[in-house]
Order: sequence, then structure tokens, then C-alpha cells
Amino acid sequence: MNLVGTGYDVHRFAEGRKLILGGVEIPHPRGLDGHSDADVLCHAIADAILGAIGEQDIGHHFPNTDPACAGMSSLEIVRKAAALVLAIGGRVINVDASLIAEAPKIAPHLAAMKANLAAALGLDPRRVGIKATTNEQLGFIGRAEGIAAMAVAGIELPGT
Ligand code: MG
Repeated sequence: MNLVGTGYDVHRFAEGRKLILGGVEIPHPRGLDGHSDADVLCHAIADAILGAIGEQDIGHHFPNTDPACAGMSSLEIVRKAAALVLAIGGRVINVDASLIAEAPKIAPHLAAMKANLAAALGLDPRRVGIKATTNEQLGFIGRAEGIAAMAVAGIELPGT
């Protein structure tokens, strides 16, 4: 059977942090705040995968109170979410995500981000969609206070 899940995440900008999106360090005056590397794209994708198989969200699986999660690469979170799918005999078919940010420009980094996520998921990079849009200067994203991401994941499970 085919399953689909959705994920959403947002992180605020903070001084003195690296900006990591899709496992790629992107030159920018500020990074995103968070317990892990605050990779909002990876978090939305991981939640989409977990949601598709009816699992609890990444806050449950990777609590921000767990010292083991502090500063961890969020590609590892994506890997572990995909491993939960494998553990029940399924596989991730594709993921598709949107980043919503006024800055920085995402396009120059898309290929590297897709390659990282494809490797973490064991997918062909063509099965990893990443788009980017601004928020037309509206709201907290428009004021460049943070970055949001939304994602869907397609999962195939044997049986009906
Ligand atoms: Mg997050």
C-alpha cells in the first residue's frame, strides 16, 4: 500500500549559529536556533516520513532534552526516520519539500541539499524535491525572523 505524510517546521534566526539546510552549510550572517543543528528542512522531511507510518513526531523520537541530540546533524534524524520505515518492511519512495525564507538564496545550494537527502534516504536525487520561495515580505518570515519548511513523503508498504 502507498502512504503519504506531511511535515512542517520553523526555526528562528539567531546570532552566532551556522545556517544548515539539507545538511549544507550556507554562508549567511545568522543561523537557525535549535537544540540540534536546527536544519528546518530535514526536520520537516523527517516528520513527513514519521507521519506517513503513523509514528510520533521527531520531538518524541529526538527530544530536545536528550544530550545525545545536542548539535547532532539532522541528516541523522532523516536517516533514522527512514530506518523506522525499513524496520516495518517499507521504503521511502519520494520526498518533496518547500523552504520559505526571505534570505538567503537557496537555488545555488539545491543540488547539494538534494544529494545529501538522497544519500540519507537511499533515494535517487530525482526522488527528492526541494523548492524555495519567499514569503513576499509578509509576517515573521517576511521580516526575516526565521525560516519555515513543509514536506510530504511517499512511502510504500508491502500488503494492502
Ligand atoms: Mg525543528
